[in-house]
Amino acid sequence: MKIGIIGLGLIGGSLGFDLRHCGHLIYGVSRKESTCKRAIERGVVDNASIHFNSLSSVDIIFICTPIGLISETLQQLIPFLKSEVIITDVGSVKSPIVNQCELLWDNFVGGHPMAGTAEQGIEAAQKNLFRNAPYVITPTKKTQKNSIKILEELAQSLGSNVYTCSPEIHDQAVAWISHLPVMISASLIAACVEEKDKTVLNLAQQLASSGFKDTSRVGGGNPELGVMMAQYNKTALLHTLEGYRQQLDRISEYVNTEQWDSLERLLMMTQEKRSPFIN
Ligand code: NAP
Repeated sequence: MKIGIIGLGLIGGSLGFDLRHCGHLIYGVSRKESTCKRAIERGVVDNASIHFNSLSSVDIIFICTPIGLISETLQQLIPFLKSEVIITDVGSVKSPIVNQCELLWDNFVGGHPMAGTAEQGIEAAQKNLFRNAPYVITPTKKTQKNSIKILEELAQSLGSNVYTCSPEIHDQAVAWISHLPVMISASLIAACVEEKDKTVLNLAQQLASSGFKDTSRVGGGNPELGVMMAQYNKTALLHTLEGYRQQLDRISEYVNTEQWDSLERLLMMTQEKRSPFIN
């Protein structure tokens, strides 16, 4: 197939590596000339350009720009497209993107390859990034069945595990397992640094070990990404924050009223219920 990739960064570049390895011809488009040059040097794409007209003959296009630019990119791209081309995206939140993009282009299929690293840009692109990782496809009633099938086959060829659900279900699920943990982890760090007693704070910082490292990791990540999650997935995130607040209140109540049996029952339940999330 002839495949277009717009936005040659971590995700776009990594897709280029693997889809090219599968034998497809990859046409990359990025904003900077220097990125296009580097993408060719690294073997991420066969051709690269800063102009959308280079994509006029491709069969499918992956839009891999930052999330806020996906629908804008599609709008700018339309004059250069052949009518039957499939457009997909890789944005980490689906409802707002799918709603906007399917109004712009009939043959649009939302997607989210759930793999990444803390790095960004063309130098961060790597081979086999999507192997054994989930790839969520988010069709609606309007989505063409054959296009879903083609995207599914491409995702499988990357070694990904394909899941299909509505954009809304996707956004609620990722709010629970990805966006809420960032906010909880950030709140943990923010609460600790509010400790007024400097001696306590200093000692806590020196004693902090693997438990704190695990629970604070995602709260210490890229602030732009955290804001993006909240901005684009506001409703779903608020729903999870409310659920979390209720659980914290419940635990505070158990401790305050010394309901040790209730606390133990809760912790026994969470010990048992954790494994389906991580296995
Ligand atoms: P990234 O490494 O910053 O890559 C984005 C690339 O887009 C940049 O390298 C930039 O290339 C290019 N770009 C920016 N504006 C552009 C424009 N107007 N036209 C064409 N290219 C443009 O970011 P990323 O992590 O790959 O994220 C890209 C998308 O993947 C986002 O929508 C994100 O939600 C999604 N995603 C990210 C992850 C993750 O863990 N990072 C995981 C799954 C999905 P230049 O160098 O040319 O400026």
